[in-house]
Amino acid sequence: MNKLILLGASGSIGRQALDVARREGVTVEGMAVYSSVDFLDEAVRRFSPKFAVVVNPASYRDAKIKLGDTGTRILSGKEAIGEMLAEAEGDTVLNAIVGEAGLRPTVWALEAGKRLALANKESLVCAGEYVMKLASRMGQTILPVDSEHAAIHQCLRAGRREEAAELILTASGGPFFGYSKERLASVTVEETLCHPTWKMGNKITVDSATMMNKGFEMIEAAHLFSFPIEKISAVIHRESVIHSMVRFADNAVIAQMGSPDMRSCIAYALFYPERRPAASPPLDLSRLGKLTFFPPDEETFPLLSLAREAYLAGGVVPAVLNAANEEAVGLFLAKKIPFSAIPDIVSEFVHNYNTVTAPTLEEIESASAEVRAVLRGRFGAKRGI
Ligand code: MG
Repeated sequence: MNKLILLGASGSIGRQALDVARREGVTVEGMAVYSSVDFLDEAVRRFSPKFAVVVNPASYRDAKIKLGDTGTRILSGKEAIGEMLAEAEGDTVLNAIVGEAGLRPTVWALEAGKRLALANKESLVCAGEYVMKLASRMGQTILPVDSEHAAIHQCLRAGRREEAAELILTASGGPFFGYSKERLASVTVEETLCHPTWKMGNKITVDSATMMNKGFEMIEAAHLFSFPIEKISAVIHRESVIHSMVRFADNAVIAQMGSPDMRSCIAYALFYPERRPAASPPLDLSRLGKLTFFPPDEETFPLLSLAREAYLAGGVVPAVLNAANEEAVGLFLAKKIPFSAIPDIVSEFVHNYNTVTAPTLEEIESASAEVRAVLRGRFGAKRGI
């Protein structure tokens, strides 16, 4: 990596990426935030990037005033991310934008011939086929930042690709592991945002509680590793020490383990194939004592199997799954719907869409926009997540 361009700099992954960049002395050439001007102000002064994008035009003036005395070029609007990527010299982009908003930036990064460290799993959920084809056409690799996929990427190095028989994603089970449907109906936003092992942003923390996140990760793995989804499974592993596993043809299972710290996943993606010294202490297995495993409860948490279903339906259906989920999560966080309505809403839309073969980006985005419009009409939400 010569220089890094960081998209979604103020989010949980973005902040941890800046921490990695500071430790490793990485030059940050550009960064993009949605509207966090105060954060941007501090980050620009610390890293002196050439470019800084403020996606929300309403925050641009504020950024211009605050950062007027720096040498950084301040750009505004989502399209400015594309302009920055086309102009930047840096060879590596870390896309840590949350939600479908990260899809175009993924495409722009690949089109600009950049190596992509991908934390935005929604890019692959919504447009996996399109994105993977583009990456291969551009001769670019996508390095997963998602801990499970970073783990699988490492496990796959233990054998030949055709020898891999099963990808086993581990799931923490979230805060509501073991809950019944009845008990789940009355959980609050505050309880949902309390993740047992990983410290993450709000959207993914809710996705993790509904198991939507694991469903997305199955789709993500199927695309990233071009692996049949039937051979991708999930197992609940409460300790989050095994980050995922690969079973090979001889039934040898290779697991990747470590302390749950996203900075390791970020550094793996940024510096691959090199390994950098860790930011967190090593695993102490004897102190841990034991690791536990349970099958996922797909009846109480139906979004896992719904994701599999959406992937198999193909076309725009996975994008519809994602859009309905983003809106439903936004409504839940705004306390407009109960937790149990999230899977109901997602399921309603997934079952009402016909598939389009090899959809274009525009078709994907318009299917998603349609879902959002219906839900905003129904619940009057101004903005999702
Ligand atoms: Mg993950």
